[in-house]
Amino acid sequence: MNSLTRRQALKLVAAGVALPAGLSLTGCATASRKGAGEVIVIGGGFGGSSTAKYLKRYSPDLNVTLIEPSKTYVTCPGSNWVIGGLAEMNEITQTYDGLNKRGVNVIHDMVKSADPAKQTITLASGKTLSYDRLVVSPGIDFKWDIHAGVNSATADVLPHAYKAGAQTLLLRDQLRAMPQGGTFAMIAPPNPFRCPPGPYERAAMVANYFSKHNKTAKILILDQKDKFSKQGLFMSGWETNYGQMIEWVSATDGGKLNSIDVANKAIDAEYGLVKADVINYIPPQKAGVLAATMGLTDAKGFCPIDPVTFESTIHKNIHVIGDASNAGSMPKSGHSATSQGKIVAANVVLSLAGQAPMSAKHVNTCYSLITNDYAISVAAVYDVIDGKIADVKGAGGVSDAKASAQDRKMEALYTRGWYKSITDEVWG
Ligand SMILES: Cc1cc2nc3c(=O)[nH]c(=O)nc-3n(C[C@H](O)[C@H](O)[C@H](O)COP(=O)(O)OP(=O)(O)OC[C@H]3O[C@@H](n4cnc5c(N)ncnc54)[C@H](O)[C@@H]3O)c2cc1C
Repeated sequence: MNSLTRRQALKLVAAGVALPAGLSLTGCATASRKGAGEVIVIGGGFGGSSTAKYLKRYSPDLNVTLIEPSKTYVTCPGSNWVIGGLAEMNEITQTYDGLNKRGVNVIHDMVKSADPAKQTITLASGKTLSYDRLVVSPGIDFKWDIHAGVNSATADVLPHAYKAGAQTLLLRDQLRAMPQGGTFAMIAPPNPFRCPPGPYERAAMVANYFSKHNKTAKILILDQKDKFSKQGLFMSGWETNYGQMIEWVSATDGGKLNSIDVANKAIDAEYGLVKADVINYIPPQKAGVLAATMGLTDAKGFCPIDPVTFESTIHKNIHVIGDASNAGSMPKSGHSATSQGKIVAANVVLSLAGQAPMSAKHVNTCYSLITNDYAISVAAVYDVIDGKIADVKGAGGVSDAKASAQDRKMEALYTRGWYKSITDEVWG
């Protein structure tokens, strides 16, 4: 759901752009335009794939190249369900067949560097490609230098499972191998980070597994912050479904981490020393490393952008979207990245046609499963207000705190439905 004014939509149509899905303008005919330009999109996740798809939809004659190293993409949405035993990996794995069929030139390679002055990128294979516009959506990477005792090799022993795939399975298998009555400790990251409800849905999914296979196990969340997304709903959902199995400790109440002894699986937090059987250390985050290599990041490690066009405020003709961008109050989510991808695609087409950009509203929804039959959600609409992307007051909210069991069950159905529709929207 994105909305444009009639003037903006007319501008899009005048530039030969088919209107984005969900938008309509009665009485306007669309026109087509030849030789629209060369656009390269980096990263075949939610942001990059949606941009590539919608570029081709809005301007079929545009040359669109998507660079992504993996042949398939395992979505983080749904990966907590795999960890909790409610889904299999094949259910959360997407291919690029749909994009190929739409005429996107998908190249499986890694971008090594870019030259913003010459408007070129260089791939790991050595090839150099030129662009008129570049869209960068490299996701996140981790800051390994914040806590003592950890480094990038730590993830092989203490999986973060915050990039889906092998990490998801490693964490799932550690859970399954845990002794009866053991402790699962999660270090939840500080803001800003990918998927604000992600750690807390994960705790519920781990509890779901334990409630069937390890009833005396304990889940301890040591948080690096004092509050979290949908907190009241999560806490009452945990208690309703899993009793006292999950303990959450805020940063102020002792969650703050000092160090981890990886070999001995021992955590030194303000809370005290914790010996755990499985440690899910989710490190502090920054934009995917490519963003820094390309000189697109600020001191905090994310990419400053123009709130309307998502064009980098550092390098011209490069747009940064998804988790890597500083998108005001929009959370770092697959839904946000998709919304941004669609609007950026429209603005890239407008810009190549010499037209001024349009400002459109964005949307985000995040569903979280607590059990297979109990889910909660949050939704919001965003607009550019006083030069920043901000929440539209009164548009959105969270699930009713007093919802019936039947309503929670319906939300669990919507959760699965959301997954199906968004992945179809991005890769279908
Ligand atoms: C456990 C968990 C649960 C989640 N659940 C939800 C949910 O329910 N709903 C929701 O909306 N969001 C959810 N998310 C968040 C969502 O996964 C991310 O916000 C989303 O993936 C961001 O999209 P992106 O395009 O920015 O990055 P990504 O999807 O990570 O895509 C980045 C892509 O860039 C590629 N890449 C990186 N560097 C290079 C390079 N140098 N050259 C070429 N390619 C490169 C990578 O291979 C990757 O495929 C969840 C996240 C987690 C961790």
